[in-house]
Amino acid sequence: MEFSDFLAHSSDAERPKGTIIDGAFVCQTCNEQCGEAEYFMIEKILKWTCSEGHVSYIKDFL
Ligand SMILES: [Zn+2]
Repeated sequence: MEFSDFLAHSSDAERPKGTIIDGAFVCQTCNEQCGEAEYFMIEKILKWTCSEGHVSYIKDFL
């Protein structure tokens, strides 16, 4: 899957399911700290959403 496709589908009901990871993840928009993120193993993408609804992500996450 292309990364742009991944983002395009990130709000779909059909989006791939990730693994929840506990940690400290800072929102890339408002710098709010979030306690968990979702890791998509196949796409190697770590994604999290802050309480304001901003979506942050890291591509090629280990
Ligand atoms: Zn935010």
